[in-house]
Parts: sequence; structure tokens; C-alpha cells
Amino acid sequence: MRMGMKSTHYQVLGLNCDSSLQCIKKAYKERLLSSHPDKTGNDSSNDEVNKIQEAYKVLSDPALREIYDKSLRDEHKKQGLHSSGDGLDEYSLDEFNFDRIIGEYCMNCPRCHGKDGFHFSEETLEEHCEERPNGGFIVVAQCSACSLWIKVNFDLADEYEQADV
Ligand SMILES: [Zn+2]
Repeated sequence: MRMGMKSTHYQVLGLNCDSSLQCIKKAYKERLLSSHPDKTGNDSSNDEVNKIQEAYKVLSDPALREIYDKSLRDEHKKQGLHSSGDGLDEYSLDEFNFDRIIGEYCMNCPRCHGKDGFHFSEETLEEHCEERPNGGFIVVAQCSACSLWIKVNFDLADEYEQADV
């Protein structure tokens, strides 16, 4: 499973998908100020400014934002991941086996019992996880066999500590 590296408009502005218009406006101003070429003395930040303006143009317009949100959801579906996992069963990454050969976390599907129905790499986790308000991270994943969605909780810091042992 290969993930795209392109930042979403939300990532460009450092926002969550459910940010209010007020938050979007505030983030836009802050980002614009901190990325302005006059401020950074760096021509390449023009790109950054363009991205910020494009992100703001879409997210500040409710109609454009709705279309964009839908395209994001479709994109996530294609990748077997999505970002709003309300009402899904929760699992811990501890319940996954880490396959060192392919470098992915794998778990048999609890519904269809498909072998390694759930599997993703550490990169995928880091790119698609969201921080939980009460600590740790969460990623929402889909069984490749039966399309069941689950939430997977994990803690990056723990993973890194274990890697040092
Ligand atoms: Zn399944």
C-alpha cells in the first residue's frame, strides 16, 4: 500500500478536518505571516504561500470545502483508510503482529477472519494517524477482504522506546 505524499489543505494550514471557519481564517493569517518571503528572506517560500492561499480559498468557501472534503474521503477510501471513524470497534496496535519481512503491522480480520485483513506500514501510520485528545494516536483502517472498518489505537512514543531496546 503506497500513500500519496501530497499535503491536504488542512495539513497546509495545520488544521483538523472539523475546524470552524473562524479557526481557518486565524490559521490562514498566521501561516501567511510566518511564510511571507519578506519575512523568511527565502524565494522558495513563494510556493508555500501559494499552497496556503489555495488551501484558504477552498476551505473558506463552504461549497468548495464540501466538494474538497468529499474528494478527501474518496481518496482515503481508495487507500483503505479514512479519518472519521465514529462508532467503529477499537483495537490496539498491540494486537497486531509486526511482520519484519514486509515491514508492516498485520492483523487477521475479526469479522471475516481473512488472514492479515488489516495491514499497514509504519509510514502509513504516521501519515494517517490523528492525535487523540487524551493522548496517543489513532488510525482508521479497512479490511482488505470484507471492507470492515476499525479504529486502531497506538502510542508512537512507546513504539520508539521499544525500538531502542
Ligand atoms: Zn474482513
